[in-house]
Amino acid sequence: MHPKQLTLLCAAALALSAPLFASAQAYPSKSVRLIVPFAPGGTTDIVARIVGERMGSALGQQVLVENKAGGGGSVGAQEVIKSSPDGYVIGMGTVSTTAANPAINPRIGYNPLTDFTPVINIAATPNVIAVHPSFPARDYKGFVAELKKNPGKYSYASSGTGGIGHLQTELFKSLAGVFMTHIPYRGAGPALNDTVAGQVPIIFDNMPSALPFIKDGRLIAIVVAAPQRLAQLPNVPTFKEVGLEPVNRMAFYGIVGPKGLPKDVVDKLANSVKKALEDPGVKKRIEETGSLLIGNTPEQFTAQIKAELEVYRTVVAKQGLKVE
Ligand code: GLU
Repeated sequence: MHPKQLTLLCAAALALSAPLFASAQAYPSKSVRLIVPFAPGGTTDIVARIVGERMGSALGQQVLVENKAGGGGSVGAQEVIKSSPDGYVIGMGTVSTTAANPAINPRIGYNPLTDFTPVINIAATPNVIAVHPSFPARDYKGFVAELKKNPGKYSYASSGTGGIGHLQTELFKSLAGVFMTHIPYRGAGPALNDTVAGQVPIIFDNMPSALPFIKDGRLIAIVVAAPQRLAQLPNVPTFKEVGLEPVNRMAFYGIVGPKGLPKDVVDKLANSVKKALEDPGVKKRIEETGSLLIGNTPEQFTAQIKAELEVYRTVVAKQGLKVE
């Protein structure tokens, strides 16, 4: 080859590879959409907004939180899965969208083990069963006694069909031998609104969204799912203490992208979350709700999703749970 031809060839090759190289280097060159698959006011929304702002400062681009609620989180999950794997559309991957809902709903339309790229698990939160102050019981014993005395009288609110609130409450019902009708919402935000307003007497929720209402007496906490009693609610027993260990599981909230998210993008996103979690303000806001910061690796998050899916598949099979 003539040296001039070679120079031309090299120049062409460089010209071709330069934009690719530059765009990978430049990620993110515009704002990133962070899909919250539940309504505003729920824990997914709370965690996304606390962490999203700081992620944005670390990435040098805004992280725009967008609520896409419906189908127990499956509508927002599908939006993430169908987006192009370039890191500009990512989503909150929760215990419900990655494990509980896929375990109970055979028609959910995605496989959580192959359709997402797990990026990082942010936090685990305790769960709580709480009642409206008009409910004629204040503690676990009285709660179960009242439900037993009046089968069919009470209903409970959850953040959606197929979610952890639905599955864990159905598991609770079956283990405790009680009945409540399920009322699914588009997230804990609207579920809380109706419970606090007295439209529904009972709610299963995650602690970050429920705690402010419990603290000011608009909801009464009955029992929590947490490794031990919460410092914030020292008089409220855990499910384990009341003999229902299988219900004693926390929820989790992480970041996922569609499958095929490039490694450098995954790393940048994960590092931006880690930076956010190092911020004492962010740490405090998450931990003061009794939640635990996680901030693990994509491989660890992938393994957690797999394990949790198995747990919920077993619960669904053992209890014969079905989506209505
Ligand atoms: N309760 C949460 C919310 O409404 C949903 C979390 C979940 O079930 O995954 O945001």
